Parts: sequence; C-alpha cells; structure tokens
Amino acid sequence: MIHRERLEGAGHVYPPDEWRLVEKEFHPHVLAAAETLFSTANGYLGMRGSFEEGTPVIQGGTFVNGFYESWPIVYGEVAFGFAKTGQTIVNVMDSKIIKLYVDDEPFYLPTANLLHFERVLNMKSGTLDREILWETPAGKRVSIRSRRIVSFQHRHLAAIDYTVTVLNGEAPVVISSEMINDLPNQIDEARHGDPRRARGFKDRVLVPKVSYVRDRRIVLSHMTNNSKMRLACGIEHAFETMCPYAVETKSSEDSGKAVFSIDAKAGVPIHLTKYMTYHTSRSAPPEELCERAERTLERGARHGFADLLAGQKEYMDDFWRRSDIQVDGDPAAQQAIRFNLFQIIQATGRAEGAGIPAKGLTGKGYEGHYFWDAEIYVLPFLIYSAPRIARNLLKFRHSYLDKARERARQVNQKGALFPWRTINGEEASGYYAAGTAQYHINADIMYALKKYVDVTGDEEFLHGVGAEMLVETARLWADLGFYSERKGGKFCIHGVTGPDEYNTVVNNNTYTNLMAQENLWYAVKTVASLRDQRPEKFSALVHKTGLDMSEVEEWKRAADSMYIPFDEKMGIHPQDDSFLDKEPWDFKNTPPEKYPLLLHHHPLVIYRHAVIKQADVVLAMFLLGHDFSAEQKKRNFDYYDPLTTGDSSLSVSIQAIVAAELGYGEKASEYAWYGALMDLADVGGNVRDGCHIASMGGTWMAVVYGLAGMRDCDGHVSFRPRPPVKLDGLRFPLTIRSQLLEVDINRDTTTYSLREGDSLVIQHEDEEIRLSTENPVVVRPHTTRS
Ligand code: BGC
Repeated sequence: MIHRERLEGAGHVYPPDEWRLVEKEFHPHVLAAAETLFSTANGYLGMRGSFEEGTPVIQGGTFVNGFYESWPIVYGEVAFGFAKTGQTIVNVMDSKIIKLYVDDEPFYLPTANLLHFERVLNMKSGTLDREILWETPAGKRVSIRSRRIVSFQHRHLAAIDYTVTVLNGEAPVVISSEMINDLPNQIDEARHGDPRRARGFKDRVLVPKVSYVRDRRIVLSHMTNNSKMRLACGIEHAFETMCPYAVETKSSEDSGKAVFSIDAKAGVPIHLTKYMTYHTSRSAPPEELCERAERTLERGARHGFADLLAGQKEYMDDFWRRSDIQVDGDPAAQQAIRFNLFQIIQATGRAEGAGIPAKGLTGKGYEGHYFWDAEIYVLPFLIYSAPRIARNLLKFRHSYLDKARERARQVNQKGALFPWRTINGEEASGYYAAGTAQYHINADIMYALKKYVDVTGDEEFLHGVGAEMLVETARLWADLGFYSERKGGKFCIHGVTGPDEYNTVVNNNTYTNLMAQENLWYAVKTVASLRDQRPEKFSALVHKTGLDMSEVEEWKRAADSMYIPFDEKMGIHPQDDSFLDKEPWDFKNTPPEKYPLLLHHHPLVIYRHAVIKQADVVLAMFLLGHDFSAEQKKRNFDYYDPLTTGDSSLSVSIQAIVAAELGYGEKASEYAWYGALMDLADVGGNVRDGCHIASMGGTWMAVVYGLAGMRDCDGHVSFRPRPPVKLDGLRFPLTIRSQLLEVDINRDTTTYSLREGDSLVIQHEDEEIRLSTENPVVVRPHTTRS
C-alpha cells in the first residue's frame, strides 16, 4: 500500500540538481526539516544544519556518535529481566555559532532584508556553503559567505570559513564566535506521545569540569551526570583583515566566545576561520581530553582551511568513485539517490568503534540508538563500496559480545542475545514486545557477517571474531526453540517478534525461523571448516567459548528440522502461527491522517488485526530468496502487500525489490521513488527528528537489487536488470573481493566492466560471464519494464 497523497502533498522544495541541495531563500516554515537535511557529519561528529547565527533554531543539535546519557527505566509494573537502563544520545556543546553585528544591528535571518540568499549542501565536495547579501536598516550592504565542513580526514575536527564584507561604506562590525552548552537536553514537551522522538532529562546532563582560554583558543570539558562520559570541546580562530580590529576572548563553565570588533572599510573583506574539535571518552580524565582537543585545534590551524577542504574533496572523490549511482534522464532521481548515499557516508564514514544510529548524526530521533537497521539495511551498501567501514561496524558489534552474553542470561537463555536497541551494548528497549522480543537481531547480524565474508573474501575476520559471534548466537537459537510434537517434531521458536512490529510476541515467525536456520547452518559450517582446516583457530575458539562438538550437531539438527510455516490451502507462508486467524483491518475506513497506526491506536488493537507495519515475509523473500519458489513469492507478495501500511520507513525499499523481481514494474518504481524521497520530501512527516538512515540504505538496495536485479547468494553475483523506461541509463560500481566492477545498464544493453582487479565471474540472466580488465562484456537484450 502506498499513500500517494503523502508523496504528492509533501512537495519537494529543493530544485532538482544532480550534486547539490539548494535553498534559494530562507524558509522559516520548514526550518526543523532543513536543520536535518543540511546536516554535516562524518560518522563520529554531526552538526545539524542550523545557522551560524544560532537563531532561529527549532532543534539545534551537535552529536558525537556513542556519547550518551543513561537513565533508569521506570516501569509501572516491572517484571523479571526487563531492561533497566535507558540511553539517550546527548546534544553536546554547540560550537559553530558565529554572531554578526553591523552598526550594532544583529544579523537575524527572519527580519533581515535579504537581497540574496543561497544555501547549498554540496554532496560532491562534502561542504555546506552559504552566500548572503544583507541590507542593514541603515542601508549598508553586507556580503556574508560561509563554508562549513565536518572533516572526514580529521575525525575530531570541523571548521567554518567565514567572510564578511561591507560593500558600500564603513561600519563597526562585530563577529562573536561562540560555543555554548545551551542545556538543550531537557524534557521535550513537543514529544506528544510519539515514542520515536527522544525523551528529555529533568536535571542537567553535562556537568562542567574544565574551562579555559589560551589566546584565541577556548577549551571546555564536561562530564555526563549519570553515564560519566567525558567530553572536551574546543574552538580556535584564525583571523585576517586589512581593517583595524580588536579581539577579546573569554570563557565560563558553559560557554566561551572570541569577539572580534572591527572598523570595517568599504569592500575590504574580514575573514575568520573557526576550527572546532570534540574528544570523548568513557574513562580518560577531562584534562587529558582537553589536551587532545588542543592538539587537534593546533593541527587544524597549522594546516589551514584550504588543506582541510582539499582533504575533504579527496575523501569524497574516493567515496563517489566507489559508490556513485548515476542515472541518466532524471535529475530529480539523481539528486535523491545521491542525497541518500551522501547521508549514509555522513552517518558511517568515521564511526570507528561506534555503530550507526537510526538517524545517523542528524537528529535525536530514536535516542541515537543502534538497531538492526545497520546490518540489514546499511551494511549491504558499505560491503560493496567501503568494506573497511563494514568490517569496523561488525567488529563493533563483536565488542559488545560479552554484554550480549550477559543479556542472554538476564532473559534466561544460553549463548548471547544482542540488544534490540542500544548505544552502550545494554538493551535499552523499555517495551519488550517490540524490543527484546525481536530476537531476529542475532540472525540479522550473522546474515550481515556472511554477506561481508562472501563478498570480500575476508576469511580471517570470519575465523576470529566472526566465529565467536556465530557460536554464541547459534547457542541462543538452539536454546530458545524446542521440538514440537504438535508440529511433527519440528524445531519451533515461540514468543518472538519478527521485523513487523504490528504483530508481537508470536509463535514461529517465518522470518525469524528462516533467519535463525541460516544463522545455525552458517555456525555449523564455519566451525566445521575451522576444525578441519584451521586447527589453531579452532582451539582458540574452543578456548574462548567452551565449545563442544556435540553442540554443533545439535545446531545442525535444529536447523535441519526448522519449522517453516506454510498454508497449503492459500499457498502462502503465514507470517506466524496466528496471523491468518486475525481479524482483517478496516483499511477502507482508515483515513490517511490515522497513519502511522501506532500513533492512533492502542497496541492491542493493532496486534489483534491482520495489519502489517513493515515487510516481514516479504523481507525474508528478498534476503533468503532461494528458500521460496517463484510461485510462492508471487502468492506471498500478493497477499501481504495490501496489508502492509509502510508505517515504518524500512518497508518500501524491500517491497520495491520484490515487486521488481515479480515483474510488477510500476509498483517497484513507485515504492523505490517513495523510499528515495523519504527525507527530501518528508514523506513520513518526521524528518525534523533526523534522516531515516535505514531507508537510505534501502534506496541503494532498491536500485541495485531491485532495478538491476542483483542477487548475491553465497557471494555468487548475478544480475537481471529491469530498469524503468523512464530512465535512459543507470550506472554503478561494486567492490567485490577488492575488484571494482562497473555495471552500466541502458535501454537495450547492459555492460559489465572490470575497472580494477584481475578477473571476476558473474552471471547475467542465466548466462555466466567471465570478466577481465581488458574486455568489458556487453549483453543484450534484457527485458525492459513498462
Ligand atoms: C522499525 C524498526 C526499526 C526502527 C529504527 C521502527 O519503526 O519498526 O524496524 O529498527 O524503527 O529505525
């Protein structure tokens, strides 16, 4: 189901531009959304796109990935094993503020007479640029140009290059460069019962520790009240002008500023470069973090802005070379696709030792938590474009394995259970039915591990941290399920929630059972190959996990006997044991404003109906396509698609892929387009709280797995291109076992070129193709879609 009115009504406010998001005027009515969309981030540090002036602002935000405050989850009725500690990403010091006064008049966008305004998120170069021509009430014309970077090359560094010129006269000009802790973490009254929005805190979150000024440099350090995380934030200034000026610098516990007072002359530029840094730690003393901050600032200032800019360009060029999807004949689609990919790299590029928050670093939605979004939606893109980042993310999961072991004990199970949502590795879901019960997260992580290993060939990783995670997740499944006599002795898994959060705590969720089966088989295969081929690694594994081979036999038996629900009469896979008995949802009498259902209905109402939030069986049909016949896929899709509300942004991309496979071309294009515009057109109506990063990964998948029909079972890559007629051409690179493949699809041919590497075997339709760098292979014709 697709709510066309959401797409049409949303209005795509940014003119199509292949590389840029351009705001031609100041739009006060979409301020919060623009703050999200114009965010700059590098995976470690993120700054929402609020203005340098500091106001107007709806939801300012500066985030450091993994920097959180914890709080006790208070239940009205607590029960055994409930998650105890909530975690919320902290809005840290806002260091990007640069206030401007001309003739003592503050520059304030809503009231300023703007002769020119242009703000550009440049996705090619990774910068946020703004050009303004302001006429003051006294008739002075002031040019203000700025460029903001959160550096990919220097993980802890951001910078703003800021130039002011009074064009037509002399005037006193004041530039106040500030950093403030404006206590932005307080209770958000506007949360209005929407569980997706972040909670606030009654007490202050950042407790001041250190504050000092050194020449034009200011450094502050804070510690979070409960979680005791430490942060140092510093700013440094390089200032250049031919006009006379004075400067004063000061700091307090929660703020710091460098104020430049200039006697501006007509046409003489005043040029400020501001360097900003953030360092965080769970254990280092604040003083040490301040030293680290100073070192970063010093380096930034020594190298200068031009150098930072060049580094940013180099990083982005390399990123686009390995990731860009080019579409011919549709600039709006081009822009939307690039925006999605750009936000993914902004969410992940330098995450290193942290996960991917559901909103990246663009907003506080979902409290900055890491979900399965990372492994199932974002990792495929990273595996095929930046395998090192994918590896880091999987390694990061492994770093929480001990906590996952502990969590399994807390919920009375063996092995390890990864948390449904977390920042610090502990389960942070206060609602177990749609949280902890999503045991499938274990299998999702192992699915991503397998894809990573299959595509990169990184066996070392599999044989070390991968194998350890496989053992513990397999143990969980073997312990969780049981052999049911009523189901012919099959292995059943009861009391779980699948991906679809509108049907919770069910028995035998098809998705979960299939994914658990895959998890178990992979564990069996990996352990067996270690034992046979890498005895030393095998001993290390046994030593770490206390593994006994009889367990492995048990895993195999459970996987081989896995119960997979199937209804012979309808010829479909029921989503779970009870789904087909549920009362139909009255879609006809549910007006668009009653979606998402979760904001308008008690969960029990939703749970007792046959209504779906997001792809579940349909997702299984994509991830484990070989487990379904073509006929089953069609029947399942035809049955589930009309019941799917798409109330989760994780749904449409998957529906697009399966629709494409089934030859439902128009539907596939529509779903893919809907997903690609999720944030740019604010289809979900909540982009103010941050970008939907999983959906962005879904956009990449909808193009590559959907339109290009790629499948990669066990690392065997094949294509069945089905490009929409609207597009003249489609081109994208894929990194496969360190080789770079380019796929170029146009109306009647597809060309496969090996750009880097030696040789690669792929499949096109049913034909095997051997590629070498010398010979691109052109194939034709393929089935074009209507
Ligand atoms: C979805 C989950 C997802 C979460 C964070 C929820 O609405 O149902 O599948 O993990 O959002 O993106």
